[in-house]
Amino acid sequence: MTQPVPTITLVRGDITDQHVDVIVNAANSTLLGGGGVDGAIHRRGGPAVLADCRKLRASHYGGGLPTGRAVVTTAGDLHAQYVVHTVGPVHQPQLTGEADRAQTELLASCYRESLRLAGELGARSIAFPAISTGVYRWPLSDGARSAVRTVREAAREPLFDIRFVLFDDAALGHFEQALAAAP
Ligand code: ADP
Repeated sequence: MTQPVPTITLVRGDITDQHVDVIVNAANSTLLGGGGVDGAIHRRGGPAVLADCRKLRASHYGGGLPTGRAVVTTAGDLHAQYVVHTVGPVHQPQLTGEADRAQTELLASCYRESLRLAGELGARSIAFPAISTGVYRWPLSDGARSAVRTVREAAREPLFDIRFVLFDDAALGHFEQALAAAP
């Protein structure tokens, strides 16, 4: 029997406008909010999101959520059931060889861990930002390829609606190219 293939779509816009089961946040390790997507999600999600983040810090992540890992909170006032917060790697252009592969693996881990948690929650739809491509300076072309490749490999039922929400035309273009490339 063939497995139903989750559909990957690209949306240009603000991730906080999405109506999905899970919105993924490109968080920082403190889990206390920040700029970019993180700031937008906390603003629109409201105090319930921050309250859950504080509880997670107190119970498990006082030293910070490690890079490549993900945790779940309520989505507060967002049009979603949950927010999955994941910490992308800060891109280090000087790394080569094994060290470069390791930082790429951390970025892939953000997408994989988010999908794993969403699957455990029974989510059918999920919206991702382009993790690490803002303040964390990951080049968009490579970030898009890594995101699309990882999500294609790791997506499982019950997820069937997977969206990348890109904030501007440049990001959208890179994701279009990555999606059009052979898997
Ligand atoms: P990181 O620290 O992981 O780099 P950022 O939030 O700085 O995270 O940026 C990640 C990506 O999200 C960037 O491509 C940025 O342009 C984009 N972005 C910023 N705000 C939003 C938003 N509200 N919705 C979707 N994407 C956003």
